[in-house]
Amino acid sequence: MEPTWLCPDLAARDRLLDMDERLRRPRALAFGLLGAGVVAAVPHLGWQPLGMLAGAIVVLLVASRLAKRVRTPEYGFALSWAFAQSMLALAVALTGGIESYVLSWLVVPLVTVPARFGARGVAAAVAFITLLVLVIAVGVEPSQPLPRGYATSGFLLTLAGVSILSFALMRSDVDHRTEAVLDGLTGMLNRRALEQRLDELRAQAAITGDHVAAIVADIDHFKRINDEHGHARGDAVLVGVADRLRTRLRAFDLAYRIGGEEFVVLLPGAGTDEALKLADELREAVTTEPIEEQRVTMSFGVAATSGGAFAADELLAEADAALYVAKAGGRDRVIAA
Ligand code: GH3
Ligand code: MG
Ligand code: MG
Repeated sequence: MEPTWLCPDLAARDRLLDMDERLRRPRALAFGLLGAGVVAAVPHLGWQPLGMLAGAIVVLLVASRLAKRVRTPEYGFALSWAFAQSMLALAVALTGGIESYVLSWLVVPLVTVPARFGARGVAAAVAFITLLVLVIAVGVEPSQPLPRGYATSGFLLTLAGVSILSFALMRSDVDHRTEAVLDGLTGMLNRRALEQRLDELRAQAAITGDHVAAIVADIDHFKRINDEHGHARGDAVLVGVADRLRTRLRAFDLAYRIGGEEFVVLLPGAGTDEALKLADELREAVTTEPIEEQRVTMSFGVAATSGGAFAADELLAEADAALYVAKAGGRDRVIAA
């Protein structure tokens, strides 16, 4: 993708699209509450502010639908955000200007900015809101004050809007973190989790001088299972293999699916012998009984560090090289680097 001012990389844009999806319902709820507040004010203020709010909602909905189809959705979202904000500002202007009971609503949509648009977005959004408020303060004559209840309800609606949106963002952040390290198919940790863990182990080993062993495992002739029985059966076999591996592992052995039909087990504190023994148990666990009516075998490569600081990619490359030897030697076996 081309980097843009708002989305410097692909991850930022993915996050933006995902966030927008997750924000859809809480945003509808927050706007619904604001709408209810505006409806309640119709006797004093007429229907005009409600029209503004409805306009803002329609634009947000349309932008959300269209954004996924264009190459730079961030500008669509940013423009619709600015438009919705302008509609709110207009509602403020029509309901008493700077003394409007809905002035504080201008803050509500800001809650959704940091998670979607990052630091630049926040700076731009704050500048934009400031500008709107200054324009209202200077350009709009404050009208007759409304009954006192309005100020209270306006503030309480703002409170509700901010709570709903910030709670939704918190939830999505928690989900994101979990999803980011789990493999969706097998529930095992993924490559990203492996990299994080290796970083930690490297730092620990540098201090303690401990060994770290790695087992790299790859299902034999997996392509055949896919070719002969279909991709769904292949997936079921992957889940079955992951289960076999997991049941054989001790709680503190860390197992990862790092893509396709390749798995890694990390053994903090273990040397080559211990890792070889465990790898052979894992190999046995996979082959003893058929998985999804298939006889499945796996090849294993084992490597260990010599204690102390180590390079994670070297450790994995050594185990990978051993795995390659296991494949070349006839598969269904364990080889140490
Ligand atoms: P080898 O014994 O040399 O490892 O042979 P192989 O067929 O297992 O190895 P190869 O790497 O050629 O094929 C792996 C296949 O795994 C290719 C791809 O179609 C399949 N695959 C990768 N990820 C998935 C997945 O998530 N689900 C399924 N069903 N298949 C996958
Ligand atoms: Mg394979
Ligand atoms: Mg493979």
